[in-house]
Amino acid sequence: MPEIDRLPPLRDVIATHGLAAKKSLGQNFLFDLNLTRKIARAAGANDGGVFYEVGPGPGGLTRALLSEGAGKVIAVERDARCLPALEEIARAWPGKLQVICADALELDELAILPKGVRVAANLPYNVGTAILIKWLTAENWPPVWASLSLMFQKEVAQRITAQPGTEHYGRLSVLAQWRCSAKILFDVNRGAFVPPPSVTSAIVRLEPRAQPLAPANLSDLEKVTAAAFGQRRKMLRQSLKPLGGEALLAKAGIDPTERPEDLKIEQFAALARALH
Ligand code: SAM
Repeated sequence: MPEIDRLPPLRDVIATHGLAAKKSLGQNFLFDLNLTRKIARAAGANDGGVFYEVGPGPGGLTRALLSEGAGKVIAVERDARCLPALEEIARAWPGKLQVICADALELDELAILPKGVRVAANLPYNVGTAILIKWLTAENWPPVWASLSLMFQKEVAQRITAQPGTEHYGRLSVLAQWRCSAKILFDVNRGAFVPPPSVTSAIVRLEPRAQPLAPANLSDLEKVTAAAFGQRRKMLRQSLKPLGGEALLAKAGIDPTERPEDLKIEQFAALARALH
């Protein structure tokens, strides 16, 4: 394993600080510093700037972000057992690592993050999706963050980046791509984690669009996508009945026999405007 700083290998850090992975916190740690460096570069660490890392755990990605060039890392970790290990990293990089012990879902990031911050995280599946939705549904757009580089189960990564007419296309694809460009950068094999999760993961990078793909009110867009994909196999005239059915579709200029998986994001936005 290559040395990326003067700190001990992650396996030793885990042993020294008794950081046995807790299933309840979705802890699957990365030990391979080559891999964490690759993730840090994909997140843009080489360009410097401020990073927000959610769930640093023992600090594999944190160390990589710093050694690849991040000017500062603000890290939020829920598990207080990880704090002494993160404190060692903070000492090795004076003034460059700020650790907050909190639940990232509860934290008001806008109060602490500077404009242009880049977000990097390897989070448990359920927390990752909830946090992504929290960032995507921000009231003000463009948001404070310049990019999100996040690890997901591959299937979720496919849902975020799916195109119309494909099997994974759904609510998350519409919401994410309405406001962001989104792409899968690379897969991460389950064997890279300790302990290994049950499925392959993938790193997704999202960058906010200056303007959403088409004008729409967020809550209206959420209403139409929830209704449409709630009955995925049905024609829109059926699934959108509670929101106005054929009249709504006519107003939006959409064929009532279409199914949601074939509708472009711009057409969902047209439905949201018609609903409004
Ligand atoms: N970043 C480390 C790595 O790549 O090895 C750890 C990844 S592990 C999959 C997820 C981390 O997120 C754990 O350290 C866990 O304690 C933390 N975590 C889980 N839920 C969290 C939450 N709601 N807020 C902040 N951290 C959380």
